[in-house]
Amino acid sequence: MTYLTIQTGRHRPSVRASLPGARAQALRRLEREHVALLLAISELEAGARGAESPELRAALLPLLRHDLARTQYALQRAAAGQYGVCDRCGRAIAAGKLELNPATTRCPACSHIRRGPSAD
Ligand SMILES: [Zn+2]
Repeated sequence: MTYLTIQTGRHRPSVRASLPGARAQALRRLEREHVALLLAISELEAGARGAESPELRAALLPLLRHDLARTQYALQRAAAGQYGVCDRCGRAIAAGKLELNPATTRCPACSHIRRGPSAD
């Protein structure tokens, strides 16, 4: 179960507890989205839903995997105590932006600047 625990981030309640209300809420949403993405990807990979055509699955999986990677990166930042802190300039990201996009790791000023090849 350790893998699932790490994947779902349930070992990090203290990270959330240390954040002010709106940020803790955004992080909770991020954790829920992460779990939903993991489930959706595993169901699509297994063909468990059945309704999707192979073409739709092939189109959806890369998008979901991209979202999953962004989500995991934001959760890694949270685990390091950096949730809601811009990964480029180090300034706090406004709570309103986190509410709209809990996986964001950039402030508005830095969000248009290209990331390295390994990030999104
Ligand atoms: Zn920034």
